[in-house]
Amino acid sequence: MALNRALIFLGPPGAGKGTQAKKIAQHCGAPHLSTGDMLREAISRNTELGRIARPIMERGDLVPDDLVMKMVAERLKRTDCQGGFVFDGFPRTLAQAEQLDKILESNGFGKPQVIDIQVDAGELVKRISGRWMCSVGGEIYNVNVAPPKVPGVCDRDGGKLVQRADDRPEAVGERLAVYERQTKPLTDYYRRKGVLDVVDGARPVEEVSRDLEKLVRCS
Ligand code: AMP
Repeated sequence: MALNRALIFLGPPGAGKGTQAKKIAQHCGAPHLSTGDMLREAISRNTELGRIARPIMERGDLVPDDLVMKMVAERLKRTDCQGGFVFDGFPRTLAQAEQLDKILESNGFGKPQVIDIQVDAGELVKRISGRWMCSVGGEIYNVNVAPPKVPGVCDRDGGKLVQRADDRPEAVGERLAVYERQTKPLTDYYRRKGVLDVVDGARPVEEVSRDLEKLVRCS
């Protein structure tokens, strides 16, 4: 199965982008490209990019566009991206969206498909504060809504569950504000292009996935 286009997930932190993007990528046999995961990997490998990104991410701000674009452009050169790809957490600014359009065009991809997962602010804070992540495979759990079978341990690979530094309350407010200011305007950008679908994300994971499988056609 192939997607043959770029699929983009918009939505505030905690809306379920990561969970849904991974599921639909697997469903369509396309790579899941999370810029947050790539940056966290750069931090754990202590690369130059990681050293720059770390303090920015910990306070909940955005990593500069030029660094993110370079990282994404490199990733898109890999052969697994030839049949399309699913972005999670990218683009996050208008400049990133405009540059992505150019990259897609020059690589023979048509317009992207964009899904905005909507969840209200109160629910987001609740979700983010309960979120824990596997330190090995990146699996996401929520101690309130989707807990692991054994507390603190990943069901899939037994990895230790950790809280993301930027999921701590000090950074969450800043991340939500940054989303409102810098990323939310992208919904208008893509609506004007006629490529935006909106999904109610304040529902159980499986229900949201079922809607997405209907919206996202892969052949
Ligand atoms: P995420 O895992 O998508 O919530 O991203 C975690 C953090 O990584 C964000 O709060 C930003 O600091 C940084 N980040 C991820 N994706 C981007 C992006 N497309 N542009 C700028 N910063 C990003």
